Amino acid sequence: MSLNSKVTMFFVAMAVSLVIMLVAINLYAFRSFSIASATDHIRTAAEIVRVHLTESMINGVIDKRESFLQRLMEVQGLASAQVVRSPLVEQQFGKGLGREAPNDDVEQQVLRDGKPHYRVEEGPDGTLFRGTIPFVASTRGSPNCLQCHQVPEGSVLGAVTLSMSIEDLKTKALLTVAGIVGIVALFSAVTFYLIRRVIQPVSLTAFNVELAVQRALRGDFKGQVEQRTEDEVGQIATDMNRLLTFLDSGLNRIGESVARLTNRTPSPDENLLNATIDMVDGLSRAARFKQAIEEDETKAEIHQRLARMLENEFDIKTFSLYEIVPNKNQMTPLFVDGVPDTSCRWCDPQILVRSEGCRARRTGHVVDGITSPAICYAFQPEEKVEGYKHICLPIIQSGSVGNVLQLVASPENEARLQSQIPFVNVYLREAAPVLETKRLMETLRESSLSDPMTGLNNRRFLEEYVDTLVANVHRRKSGLTVMMLDLDHFKMVNDTYGHDAGDAVLKALAKVLRQSVRSSDLVIRFGGEEFLIVLVDTPSADADQVAEKIRAAVEALSVQTGSVVLRKTISIGLADFPTDSDTFWQAVKFADVALYQAKESGRNRVVRFTESMWENKKEY
Ligand code: GH3
Ligand code: MG
Ligand code: MG
Repeated sequence: MSLNSKVTMFFVAMAVSLVIMLVAINLYAFRSFSIASATDHIRTAAEIVRVHLTESMINGVIDKRESFLQRLMEVQGLASAQVVRSPLVEQQFGKGLGREAPNDDVEQQVLRDGKPHYRVEEGPDGTLFRGTIPFVASTRGSPNCLQCHQVPEGSVLGAVTLSMSIEDLKTKALLTVAGIVGIVALFSAVTFYLIRRVIQPVSLTAFNVELAVQRALRGDFKGQVEQRTEDEVGQIATDMNRLLTFLDSGLNRIGESVARLTNRTPSPDENLLNATIDMVDGLSRAARFKQAIEEDETKAEIHQRLARMLENEFDIKTFSLYEIVPNKNQMTPLFVDGVPDTSCRWCDPQILVRSEGCRARRTGHVVDGITSPAICYAFQPEEKVEGYKHICLPIIQSGSVGNVLQLVASPENEARLQSQIPFVNVYLREAAPVLETKRLMETLRESSLSDPMTGLNNRRFLEEYVDTLVANVHRRKSGLTVMMLDLDHFKMVNDTYGHDAGDAVLKALAKVLRQSVRSSDLVIRFGGEEFLIVLVDTPSADADQVAEKIRAAVEALSVQTGSVVLRKTISIGLADFPTDSDTFWQAVKFADVALYQAKESGRNRVVRFTESMWENKKEY
């Protein structure tokens, strides 16, 4: 119940009870006063009647009493006067005038017990007060009753019944009551009006504050409270308005910034506060996500985390994450429906070998198959999931599409998926630069470990890989053969035909070397025109054969540069690990010693390391 109605109710109750109380008191007082006043009047009149009757008797004009009583009626207010004779008087003087016999029980009663009797009667002319006063024989005064009446003292001689109208008094009482009610009503009305004037602004302000708060809870801070007075209540309105304006502008600013970050503008009927809370929540989760992926080591870990995020944060179960193969018109699925997979469940597998077929990959734009069904011809889900639609989000890295995230929704999940897109995008935007960094680092790492001219791994790669290599040897209790190779008189090629001719020979040689060994063997460009080959799990004799095969292949190799055809030979030194040496690098050293021997002994040959070579070497 509002303050206003409470105050109204209180005042009405107060006024009504006050009126009832005053009216009751007033009526009671008037009644008592009327009765007391009428009693006095009647007594006096009765006394006058008595004195007159006594006088009449003494003067012998008692016969004229009837006219006296009639004259008495002229006294204002007196309605009737009637004298009755007691049986004692009747005994002495006989029956009186016809009307002097007792008329009713009251008169008989009064004659019997000598006590006055009063009552209020309703007559045809209004309310009457009737009193019956006995005349009691007494010896008081002179003359007195007993001088004429032969009755014992204290006997009742007769009685007079007088009645007078109290209609006047009643009217006055009613007028007074009306006056009181009027005054109280007027007073209440004035007080009520004054209080309402004080209460009204408080009540209205409270009501408006409540409305404004209700609107604020719905996310609308535009509500204002009208300032009605200059007092504290007015101050409340002003303060409330300042608070609302502050919240509105603050929230709008947060909302705008957040909306810019999420690319999502809350719709007008949306609760701005809740929408902002949701968006800020989403952003902070995305920030945590970014921190997590920044600390991840590889791209694969980030892909994994993206897949987990889609399932856990967004409850998206049907999706594919693709990676675009750099410099090739290809793409590879990484995750399909939450699990690492390389199959093409939602799309035409053609896109894997012709990534241009993927619209998101080709355009770098979001492809929304929910808003525009059939926008992408490559979207081809399996038959049994009819009605599913897709939204494909490109993940841009280094200015081109690095990954494509394809989200798929069943008809009942379409709307939910669409509303989630801005938030998913926040995650993707966080992930993109990290993925880009990882990709660059991986490329950089690959390039720092390989030789750009020949495409072979370089010496740094061998240095990084050697621990794994040795651990494998120990685990498998097997051995390696280290082969050192150096072209014979290569300097001459450069000197005679130029550096480009030399490079062409080195490239051709690298190809021959790679083709001459198994893919599990390592071919390293160790220095300028020095190469190192590690044969894995190859018995010594077989290693010698491989070396010989290489030597012969190089000898047979002819490299065309410009108009000249170049032919070169190669010298090879071999050493086994761990047969010949304690460490891998020692085996490399021993192979180098053997190579030196090969050069020494005429070039274009294969020499296996022997301990004596090391002894001789030490002597130098
Ligand atoms: P040998 O090994 O038979 O004793 O004689 P060599 O002429 O091969 O002697 P050395 O090994 O000292 O010479 C190596 C030459 O290889 C020096 C350099 O001009 C050349 N060279 C090294 N790296 C490259 C390269 O990347 N391209 C070219 N064109 N030449 C290179
Ligand atoms: Mg050399
Ligand atoms: Mg050489």
